[in-house]
Amino acid sequence: MTANRQFRLIARPTQRASAANFSFAESPVPAPSAGDALVRVRYLSLDPTNRIWMSDMDQYMPPVELGAVMRGVGIGEIVASNTDKYAVGDIVTGLLGWQDYCLVSETGGVSVLPKGLPISLPVMLNVLGGTGLTAYFGLIDLAKPKAGETLIVSAASGAVGSVVGQIGKSLGLRVIGITGGPEKCRHIVQDLGFDAAVDYRAADWQAQLVAATPDGIDINFENAGGEIMEAVMGRMNLFGRMSLCGMISGYNTGEKMAFDYSPMLMRRLTVRGFIITDFADRFMEGIGALAGMLLAGKIKSNETIAEGLENVPAALNRLFDGDKLGKLMLKVS
Ligand code: NAP
Repeated sequence: MTANRQFRLIARPTQRASAANFSFAESPVPAPSAGDALVRVRYLSLDPTNRIWMSDMDQYMPPVELGAVMRGVGIGEIVASNTDKYAVGDIVTGLLGWQDYCLVSETGGVSVLPKGLPISLPVMLNVLGGTGLTAYFGLIDLAKPKAGETLIVSAASGAVGSVVGQIGKSLGLRVIGITGGPEKCRHIVQDLGFDAAVDYRAADWQAQLVAATPDGIDINFENAGGEIMEAVMGRMNLFGRMSLCGMISGYNTGEKMAFDYSPMLMRRLTVRGFIITDFADRFMEGIGALAGMLLAGKIKSNETIAEGLENVPAALNRLFDGDKLGKLMLKVS
């Protein structure tokens, strides 16, 4: 291919993102100068945080500037190199952007993935990528789970949530997942081994939550925010812990929660927000542990793979519609 197709952010979305928020244009494929290498993007991770980065809400990295290539995590292959750091054929991961090709510098931040593992690129991007690591450190380091405790996780059939629940089961916890629709509830219980599921799209979801947590909740791994988070907080046990990982219910609208803090006081809860980059210096430790669990069959990996770079903005909305199972990604080449 001689052209590099790129999505550039041209207008910040105020609700759902769409193709109208981007330009999609071709430019020549760049040649790497001294110290650089060229990456052919193979898969893009589609993440709720893409939507955060498009906005100018208070966030953990600078928002994507108007006119810039849309930021996105991906996996790609080095196809030309002018540095000893990367060899042609190396598989790398990092912020490759919504484009066909990405120039990376020897001083920049893409990581070379280990060769020879019997693990496909989609699974690398999923369980061994940022979302798997989020599940691992957010649960093990921050919530400090103990066998026999009750763990609840929202967005439970998704990339982070499905791994949280499966790690929880491998540690001997009772695990309840909150997910949308009967088929996803069946999936997390029957295929992934959760103890119970709550269908947040059902009219009686609050009654389902009460029925699934007769002994209360010791750990909440929060991915949803909004009324789900509020209802779960009301079921927490004394000295419960909460890993506050995400609040996807507010990302498209920017809506803030009007929150009742009294359960935090009365039940002496520990609430810990985190961003996975907080653990950057321990990623290899996490990848090793997750690879061990994956290869031992303790974690099953599920991916939904959209196709075609031109479809990224529409595909991203499948995260907010729940129109996918497991990790959502897009195959570029
Ligand atoms: P995901 O769970 O694979 O996909 C998003 C899921 O969110 C959807 O499948 C849907 O679940 C659920 N959802 C969407 N809108 C919702 C709403 N209004 N109420 C309740 N649930 C809703 O995505 P992910 O990448 O694993 O991310 C999950 C969460 O983790 C997000 O909040 C994300 O921001 C956060 N996260 C945080 C970090 C960090 O460093 N702190 C890193 C990665 C991800 P159903 O399919 O069940 O309908």
